[in-house]
Amino acid sequence: MDKKFGEFGGQYVPETLMEALIEIEKAFAKYSEDPEFNRELKELYENVANRPSKLYYASEMTKDLGGAKIYLKREDLNHTGSHKINNVLGQMLLAKKMGKKKIICETGAGQHGVATATIAALFKIECHIFMGKEDVERQALNVFRMELLGAKVTSVDSGTGTLKDAVNEAFRQWTREVEDTYYLMGSVVGPHPYPVMVREFQKIIGEEVREQILLAEGKLPDAVVACVGGGSNAIGIFYDFIKDEQVKLIGVEAAGEGLDTDFHAATISKGSTGIFHGMKSKFLQDDFGKIMPVYSMSAGLDYPGIGPEHAYLYSIGRANYFPVTDEEAIDAFEYLSKMEGIIPAIESAHAIYYAMNLAKQLDKDKIIVVNLSGRGDKDVYQVAKYKGVEINEQ
Ligand SMILES: *Cc1c(COP(=O)(O)O)cnc(C)c1O
Repeated sequence: MDKKFGEFGGQYVPETLMEALIEIEKAFAKYSEDPEFNRELKELYENVANRPSKLYYASEMTKDLGGAKIYLKREDLNHTGSHKINNVLGQMLLAKKMGKKKIICETGAGQHGVATATIAALFKIECHIFMGKEDVERQALNVFRMELLGAKVTSVDSGTGTLKDAVNEAFRQWTREVEDTYYLMGSVVGPHPYPVMVREFQKIIGEEVREQILLAEGKLPDAVVACVGGGSNAIGIFYDFIKDEQVKLIGVEAAGEGLDTDFHAATISKGSTGIFHGMKSKFLQDDFGKIMPVYSMSAGLDYPGIGPEHAYLYSIGRANYFPVTDEEAIDAFEYLSKMEGIIPAIESAHAIYYAMNLAKQLDKDKIIVVNLSGRGDKDVYQVAKYKGVEINEQ
């Protein structure tokens, strides 16, 4: 298994974790080739996640914008409401095969934590989740959800109290109990083998899109658009199309309050190459390599780095990455709600916004597929607050 994507990726971790990573790498290499493992995973995708997810033709939006046809890959309809479950099912099955007794993970918005707690409940595996203090406050309902599902949630108040700090603390905890514990990474980030493994468990998204779009249109899409936090939903929908050079791959990153402010999370637009969280990739950092605080109203995109495979795809020009602000994402959030009757996750709304503009510039015979990575129920309160709408909680 290749540990690197060009110069990016690798395993920059303390000695105490090397053995655990090698153990996971070996188990993954073995089971990913095992027909029984793959059969069980397929069954879990169908029975638990509700796959295949629909490829939905957004006819109202297409008509309204007057350009390219827009299709939405409905990862929001998966159990637990986002693409995160695909990866959790894969890794949890692997952890079970490895005989691990405990799962540890980080979460940003809480989506990965909820998905992990859900499957841990189903698999009867103990689950400990680390979440930044800031995110605990922003997504209080998700914290209660995780606890309801039987998980233990630890609030992390070091650093900026967000996702990057949750990862740090979860890794620290892992080194203390590495024997019987499996670290379940939520995105295509971290040391090898996580970026490869998480991609392998998410690539089902793009594989389904290929089949579905060929059935619906008889040809491949002209562009595939996805939002990028760590990059798992994006690589999941991109991966099967990398070999098809005519399909444009577009990642959308969070520009928060704008690229000319200090409040954004636009890693490709504003970042540089460095090493953090066990990987070499692009990061928002100062001249000394210190990771900078990042901001996006969407907790899921609020990460100062990007998966190494994205850094690589960008470096070779195969994929492109563009920034979308909070304000623009909220426009798209409201637009999709009104136009199609679908309330998207604020993360996904970043991708929707980009696709709206792209569609207008393209002819009617072109096709855009947008990954609707999650549903927006979790964000309704925050958007109301942003809009200055008062909602009295009972
Ligand atoms: C977590 C999350 C994201 C961002 O994570 P990626 O690894 O970049 O996909 C995007 N959308 C939703 C709905 C999420 O829950």
